[in-house]
Amino acid sequence: MSNSYIPERAMFIYAHPDDIEFGVAGTAALWAKHGCEVTYVIVTDGNIGSHDKSLTGEQLAAIRHAEQRAAADIVGVQRVLFLGYHDGLTEPSLAMRKHFVKLIRQYKPNVVVSGDPRSVFVEDSYINHPDHRAVATAVVDAVFPASEMRLQYQEFEEEGIFAHKINYLYISYGPDANLFIDISEVIDLKIEALKCHAPSQFPEWDPTEMVKQWSGEAGKRIGVKYAEAFRRFVLHEVE
Ligand SMILES: [Zn+2]
Repeated sequence: MSNSYIPERAMFIYAHPDDIEFGVAGTAALWAKHGCEVTYVIVTDGNIGSHDKSLTGEQLAAIRHAEQRAAADIVGVQRVLFLGYHDGLTEPSLAMRKHFVKLIRQYKPNVVVSGDPRSVFVEDSYINHPDHRAVATAVVDAVFPASEMRLQYQEFEEEGIFAHKINYLYISYGPDANLFIDISEVIDLKIEALKCHAPSQFPEWDPTEMVKQWSGEAGKRIGVKYAEAFRRFVLHEVE
């Protein structure tokens, strides 16, 4: 099933700077190009994500913020919110759920995009990062039912922030994808956005071929050159 739906507003919530670029920045680029107001929420500072002994965690966080902003600018994202959680130490806590609910109510996305909370072992060679699972779990719990329940976190009303119903939740990396988005027209933007993270993450490596290979495999599923795969949940269908 392909889908040309462009939401009015979308919020991408991921654990680390570079998670979006490795996975779903093509969809962000496509939507932004066609008029969607896209918000990136980056939960941790990525402040342990380096083996460079000359850097402190604070210095690394500053570098990674700058890389993430540059990546977001390339795809035309409206805003990037850094929540400042410590890299590697996230939990799907009630506090995190509340934090996400507040942002969802504030920015009113039609679509929330995040990772797959069920993903622990990926094929035979990759253990999904605990931050990815923690954030994805808290996102799912924030999306439904918390964000739309008026009486939960009613204190936000004092700040003019009210309950909000999300239309769709898109989960990336799921083995049971039911939606493939054609990103062929923005594949170059996806590659350029990922390259913004090269200085701190992969200074010696050009990700072009890998992005083309992954996106090409998803593309085959719907007969296009490049695509991104999602499991889409319908919460409140757009009329
Ligand atoms: Zn990550």
